[in-house]
Amino acid sequence: MHPAAILRRAVDLIFPLRCAGCGAFDTPLCAHCEASLTPAVGPGRCANCTARWSGPEFCPRCYNWNELAGARALYEHEGAARALVHRLKYQRYRALAPLLAQRLAPAAANLPVDGWVAVPLHPSRQRHRGFNQAELLLRLAALPPAPVTLHRTRNTGSQIGRTAAQRAASLAGAFTVQGPPLENLSIGILDDVITSGATIRECARVLLHHGAREVWALAVTRASLELTSQNTVGPPPPSTPTTP
Ligand SMILES: [Zn+2]
Ligand SMILES: [Zn+2]
Repeated sequence: MHPAAILRRAVDLIFPLRCAGCGAFDTPLCAHCEASLTPAVGPGRCANCTARWSGPEFCPRCYNWNELAGARALYEHEGAARALVHRLKYQRYRALAPLLAQRLAPAAANLPVDGWVAVPLHPSRQRHRGFNQAELLLRLAALPPAPVTLHRTRNTGSQIGRTAAQRAASLAGAFTVQGPPLENLSIGILDDVITSGATIRECARVLLHHGAREVWALAVTRASLELTSQNTVGPPPPSTPTTP
């Protein structure tokens, strides 16, 4: 038996298959958790980024995303969907990846994208985790690859608790593109979750600089902005703090 297969078998013995949402046995996602997922499509959502939004035009979460043609996601980032994305980072929940990839594939096919890239992890973080969950989803969904790859040259650490302006500042210059000029291609970026959008915007910026005609983003979940008194009146200025 291949060493990787032996390791997988060992992991299965130690960590039996469990629902990523609630821990029920023998399924990566039980019927109850499945039913609780909120699809990030349909009315009451921003046409540009799929965040919850019932107002006109683009929502406060994305109105200044000049780098992106649009962003889509499968589910609202809450409840069981939030747990799915979190657990996708752990080897023991790897049964989730093919399930989610299967759902991402038709969503990706709906976008006018010529080739896809995954949001990269910094090499030190990837070594620590053993794999990049976005890359794994990209491979399992069998999306057409872009002729370039993205690389993270700076370890930006956790973005949790940072304001939108702090996130953008920490990500500036964090990514590079390797490969031939994109010659007017439309490129898709795949990630596990879209929160403030700072990461996909910075990835889009370097892809446009590398010759892409336009850039789309797709993720498993989309975190909507919780409306507070600070941001209920019109779009916030770029420096306005947002919830993580
Ligand atoms: Zn469950
Ligand atoms: Zn929006």
